[in-house]
Amino acid sequence: MSNSPLEVHMFPCLEDNYCYLLHDEDTGATAVIDTPDVPAIEQALKSRGWQLTHILNTHHHWDHAGGNLELKQKTGCTIVGPKAEKDRIPGIDIAVGDGDSFDLGQHTAQVFDTPGHTSGHIVYHFEKDGVAFVGDTLFSMGCGRLFEGTPEQMWHSLSKLLVWPDNTLLYCAHEYTLSNARFAASIDPGNTQLAARIEEVERLRANRQATIPTTVGLEKKTNPFLRPDDPGIRKLLAMPDANDTAVFAEIRRRKDSF
Ligand code: ZN
Ligand code: FE
Repeated sequence: MSNSPLEVHMFPCLEDNYCYLLHDEDTGATAVIDTPDVPAIEQALKSRGWQLTHILNTHHHWDHAGGNLELKQKTGCTIVGPKAEKDRIPGIDIAVGDGDSFDLGQHTAQVFDTPGHTSGHIVYHFEKDGVAFVGDTLFSMGCGRLFEGTPEQMWHSLSKLLVWPDNTLLYCAHEYTLSNARFAASIDPGNTQLAARIEEVERLRANRQATIPTTVGLEKKTNPFLRPDDPGIRKLLAMPDANDTAVFAEIRRRKDSF
C-alpha cells in the first residue's frame, strides 16, 4: 500500500484567521483545523472535492470552535479536541491531551498541551509529515495573548515546540505577522535575520500574500518570545541575570501595551 502525503489546503477567513484542511488521499480522511467560518470551510471542501470526516480543535474560542455543531450536523464528522476544554467546546467526541496521538488516515498527530492563551489549548504535531498546527499558541514572530494562563505556563508550552526539527512547518491560526514583526524589531533591533524577515513579510503583505507557514528554525532566530536567553534582548530589557521565564513575561507584558 502506498502512502500518500498529507495534503494541507490553507485558506484565509474572517478578519485575519487561517483555516486548514488536511487530507489523506489513500483513505479519504479529511480534517479541518478549527471551525472559524462554516461557509468558507464548505467552499474549500467543495473546491477540493473532499468530504469532511474530522474537526481538530485547538481551543474553545469562538473563532476556533464556533462552527463545530453546524459542520457536525451537516457532515456527521467526528470532533477531536482538548480534554481540558471538553465542557467548553461543543460536540467533542474524542478528548485528547498531552501524550495522546490521533490518526487521520495514515497520518499520526502527536498532541501537546500548551496552556497559556487558554487553559486547555492543544497543538497537533504530525511528526512524520513535518507539519504542526499550533492554533493561537505561537504566531510568526509572536505568541498568543495570555487570557487564561501565566507567563510560566506559556513559556513551558512554547518550549515544547522548540525541540521539534528546525524544518518543521508551523501553521498558526492568524495572520498577525506584520504587527508582530514591528514589535519584534523594537525588542531585538540588532538581529539581522529578523530585519531580513521583516523585509520579506512587508513585501508579502503588500502583495496580500500569506506569511504562513513559518518554521521552527526561522522562529528560533526571529521570534523574540522564543529568545529570552538572547544577550542583546536581555540588555535592552535591563534584565541581564533574570531567568528565561521572567524575560519572557516582560516581553509579553510589553507586547500587550505596544
Ligand atoms: Zn484564541
Ligand atoms: Fe484565534
